[in-house]
Amino acid sequence: KLSRRLEMIMELIPEHSRLADIGSDHALLPVAAVQSGRVVQAVAGEVNQGPFKAAAKQVAEAGLQGQIAVRRGDGLAVIEAGEVDVITIAGMGGSLIASILDNGLDKLRDVQLLIMQPNVGEDILRRWLMEHGWLLTSEKILEEDGKIYEILTAVPELEDERISSRMLYEEQEWPVSNGKGTFTVTSELLLRMGPWLLKEPTSVLRDKWNSELDKLHGILESLSASKQESAEVKSRQLKREIDQIKEVLTCLQ
Ligand code: SAM
Repeated sequence: KLSRRLEMIMELIPEHSRLADIGSDHALLPVAAVQSGRVVQAVAGEVNQGPFKAAAKQVAEAGLQGQIAVRRGDGLAVIEAGEVDVITIAGMGGSLIASILDNGLDKLRDVQLLIMQPNVGEDILRRWLMEHGWLLTSEKILEEDGKIYEILTAVPELEDERISSRMLYEEQEWPVSNGKGTFTVTSELLLRMGPWLLKEPTSVLRDKWNSELDKLHGILESLSASKQESAEVKSRQLKREIDQIKEVLTCLQ
């Protein structure tokens, strides 16, 4: 049975898609997506021998070799340009996902939809998408087995699009929590916390950022124990960051 995380990713794949699942590990996602009838043809890509073998075994056991090609290779090297409509890349860091996309730009030409689940470094991925003509169209957040996951989708940005990627991250003024005045939600914060997630905040989003705040406080404490001059500069930056996140959180309650 699929985890809720993979289930949610699968539900974002449009019917009749041709899918590439990059970093497929046991190929659980493409197997379930083909079995559900949602995906007509899939490529399961894996760079490492162990997971590649596991994927091949899973596909063979499901009897789906006709519909799922298991290929060994780095990132998007396993697909031809024009071969798939949808790419899923899940369970890796945001910077690895961004570099996989960056190294395979020529393969993205006819792709209609990217579905990504970065474990960390979501801001790096959002920035890559913004800078490479991919419009972030949705963000989901879920908790499973004590871990919090974000799932992002993006489509190619059209020149005449009403909302452009950059508009999503434009600095905004929000009313402060005591109702007196406003504070500035910077592009940086929007990239970090997610523009769609902030529009419709859930308790999981608040949980995520409360635990991020705990981590940042921990770092702050260890910095204040340090006697280095650079530590002071870093502390000041970190305090500012903590204050901004706190302000956003109070506004979300
Ligand atoms: N996508 C599955 C999921 O979300 O459950 C598996 C995630 S697993 C933690 C990450 C997988 O990505 C590993 O099997 C690893 O071998 C693979 N991987 C890492 N870098 C890769 C790359 N550059 N190209 C293809 N696969 C990669």
